[in-house]
This record gives sequence, structure tokens and C-alpha cells, in this order.
Amino acid sequence: MTGAGMEKMRLAIVGAGPAGIYAADLLIKAERDFEVEIDLFEQLPAPYGLVRYGVSPDHPRIKGIITALRDVLDRGDIRFFGNVRYGQDITLGDLKKHYHGVIFATGAIRDASLNIPGIDAEGSYGAADFVSWFDGHPDVPRSWPLEAASVGVIGNGNVGLDVSRMLIKHPEDLLPTEIPTNVYEGLEASPIEELHLFGRRGPAYVKFTPLELRELGEVRDVDMVVDERDFDLEDPYVDETLMKNKQIVVITRVMNQWREQQKAREAGEVPAASRRLHLHFWSKPVEVVTDEAGRVSGLKIERTAPDGEGGAVDTGEFEVVPIQSLYRAIGYFGSPLDEIPFDDAKGVIPNAQGRVLDASGQQVPGVYATGWIKRGPVGLIGHTKSDAMETLECLMEDRESWWTPEVDDEAAIPSLLSERNVPYTTIEGWHRLDEHEIGLGEAEGRTRIKVVPRDEMTRISRGE
Ligand code: NAP
Repeated sequence: MTGAGMEKMRLAIVGAGPAGIYAADLLIKAERDFEVEIDLFEQLPAPYGLVRYGVSPDHPRIKGIITALRDVLDRGDIRFFGNVRYGQDITLGDLKKHYHGVIFATGAIRDASLNIPGIDAEGSYGAADFVSWFDGHPDVPRSWPLEAASVGVIGNGNVGLDVSRMLIKHPEDLLPTEIPTNVYEGLEASPIEELHLFGRRGPAYVKFTPLELRELGEVRDVDMVVDERDFDLEDPYVDETLMKNKQIVVITRVMNQWREQQKAREAGEVPAASRRLHLHFWSKPVEVVTDEAGRVSGLKIERTAPDGEGGAVDTGEFEVVPIQSLYRAIGYFGSPLDEIPFDDAKGVIPNAQGRVLDASGQQVPGVYATGWIKRGPVGLIGHTKSDAMETLECLMEDRESWWTPEVDDEAAIPSLLSERNVPYTTIEGWHRLDEHEIGLGEAEGRTRIKVVPRDEMTRISRGE
């Protein structure tokens, strides 16, 4: 290996979400004694991964991260190849031939599974799929069945909040956002009146962030309904440990306000809204109840109780909450990549600080991981930066074990993709699509209207 004498490193990054783009940016800016050229491969025709396809359309502040990511791609020293599927359009062998190493930053886009009877019933969905639908992901069907008046959501994390908010909000309040037209029309036809959000532990154990929780209570014409039983349980762990966390203090305050508002409503002091969001804590899902046609008709939960050490114990007390559709928002899960080790239990690429490891725990030379595919689907977008830094430090240290590419020609990759008839997109192509979407929005007084079908995205990007 000629790593030590080499002057220019060619690096491939697979995945152009925040994890991949931050890694590219940080490597370009890092103090190093070699030149670097980075090619960023993305399976979708547009960049930005989870920011474009995971963040809710009514979160413009978080969507705004795109501006920073865009500045990185626009600087001109990182090449973007969109609509290129790793494992199909470009293989590990191709990467080895053209680069000194690769970083996988492919994230986690599937739903973790929940093994309870009835979970596969008609009307039971994964939150990740629904998020992909409302964010206009090209690879999910255009229409979504929204026929239930009473809907259940399992999971007390921010994805559970996003899904609940998108379902219960009056769709006209989403119109100023970038939601695709098919999504607006689907939500407008939804007869929803009740949403039941279930958590298997108590109100002080939620994974919600305070800002997002407060926002839920501010949704127009939706009452927050709480169950006083959930707040009455003796739990020394809350006072001794959880209330030392500022976020939990704020969250508790928000929920206490909802309890007060509920009392005021019950006393007839304030009018009732037309839609309700019910919070069920200490409620562990045990079975999806179905009707004769096999469709979701309820969620059976077992009441749990605090064990005093931060966990929950079963009580043997069961309840069924009537619902006609169910979403599980209990976490995302990564997908395996061709020829790359994968941990099926955790849904990540096995690694040590970003260095990919094989089944025997040995480092796989030249192969690295960053972001959710490295550490699992937890943490906010900003956390990806420190994660990328850790991976890059390993990469820079490992110079002796990088690959030795046969080809040193920057025209080789575009030629290879063209030879294989891969209709790849570029950063200039993204600008075309971006302007097109903004133009579609302008015509209707909206910020943007997303183009959803993959072939249309590709055609517009490629100026065809
Ligand atoms: P999360 O924060 O890990 O929350 C998952 C929730 O599912 C937890 O309440 C967990 O309960 C529950 N859960 C897991 N397994 C369960 C089971 N078998 N039965 C019942 N409940 C179960 O995951 P997430 O909501 O997918 O979010 C992923 C990351 O993205 C988080 O860091 C989140 O903050 C971030 N995010 C942020 C935003 C934003 O707007 N800022 C939006 C979306 C996502 P336990 O606590 O009891 O395990």
C-alpha cells in the first residue's frame, strides 16, 4: 500500500444526508497533510436525506438545516452523484478501484419491529413509512389510507409526536408548508377526531424534546386529554433522578398545564375543540385487536407501574382502546448494505469509533461508517457532527491501510455511470429541481411544492 507516499486521497461517501455531508465538510476543513477529493453517492435523485425526507414539513426551522448542507455542496470541492444505488449501480469493487476508502452514511429508514399479535393487521403501519409518505419520498405509494376516526400511535419519542401532529392537525394549517399536493389531499379527506398516543412508561420518562411537546399542545382546535391516574403513581426515581434533568422539568410543566386546561374544560370554563389527542402513559401494547375482516379495531394495553428504578413492571390489568388504525413509532432500524458487515440485532454496521469490523471483530480496511448506520437511530441532527469527527479521526490515522485505487482520473466515475446507463444527477441538477419546486410553490403562494415521482425528479434534474 502506498498510502504514506500518497498526496491526494480520493474518498467515496455513500449517503448524502446530514451524516454524509457533515463528514465531507469536516474532512475538507480538517487539518491534514494530504489533499482530498470527495465523491458523495446518494440513492435518491436529491440530496439531504432525512432533512428532506424525515423532518416534518411543518418544522421549517429544522428543514432550514438544508441551507447549511447546501452551502457545503455548493462550495464546489465535493462532487454529488444522485440516483446512484450502492450495490446495484456502483459496487464495493468499483469503489476499491477508484478510491482510497469509503464512508457509509446511509442512516436508518425502516421501522423497528414490534412483536405483538395482530401487528401485521390491515390498518397497522410503521411510522417511518408514514413519514416517508407525508414527506414525499419517491419510493413509497402516492396514496395513504386515512379512513380512521380514531387512531393509535405507539411511542413517546419525537417521531411519535411528528406522526401524531401530522395526523391530528387540520390540513389547511399545513398548506403554507412544502407538503406535496397528494399529501394535502389525503389528509384533507381524513375523518380523524381522536388520536391516542401510548407510552409504556410514565410522563417523566418520555423521549420527547420540550419544544416539540409544547408545540403539540399548540395545535389549533385540538384538546390535549390526560389521564389523572397516570400522574398519581409513587415513583422515587422521578424525584431523585429525573427531575434533575432540566428538559424533564420543562416537560412536566407542560403536562401540568394540560392537566389544568383539562380541569377548566371539564368545569365548562373553556369550549371544547373538535379534535382530541389522548395521552396514555404506563400503557404497554400487548395486542392489536382486529375485527372480522382482519382490520385494526383496537389496541389492547397492559397497565404498567414504576419499579422505582426507572423501569416499569406489568400489573396484570388490561384495557382495550378502540382505534381503527395504528402507527408504531418505536424507533428506526438500519438496512444492510451489499458486501458490508451488518448487525441484524441492532440494525447497524458493526464498528469501533467508525472503523467497520468484520464478524471476527477485525477492522475491514478502507471501510468506515458514520451517523445512524454507525451508532443507531438516536440523537438530533447536530449530534451527527461529533460522530463524523470521530470517524474521520480514525480514517486519517489509518492512512497505511487505505485501499490502493487503480484509477486516478476524476472523469472515470461519471464515465462508468454513463456506460451503465445510470441516469445520475449532479449538484447543478439539484439546483434545477430546487428552483422548479420553488416555482411550483410560488404559483400557489407556498414556499415549495415537492416533486414526488423519482423519474420526474430525475428528468427535471437532468434537464430532459
Ligand atoms: P426514540 O426517541 O428512541 O423514542 C422511541 C419511543 O418508543 C420511546 O418512547 C420508547 O420507550 C418507545 N418504545 C420502544 N420500544 C417500544 C415497545 N416495544 N413498546 C412500546 N414502546 C416502545 O426514537 P424516535 O422517536 O424514533 O426518534 C429518533 C431520534 O430522532 C430521536 O433522537 C429524536 O429526538 C429524533 N427526532 C427529532 C425530531 C425533532 O423534531 N426534533 C423529530 C423526529 C425525530 P422507552 O423509552 O420505554 O424505550
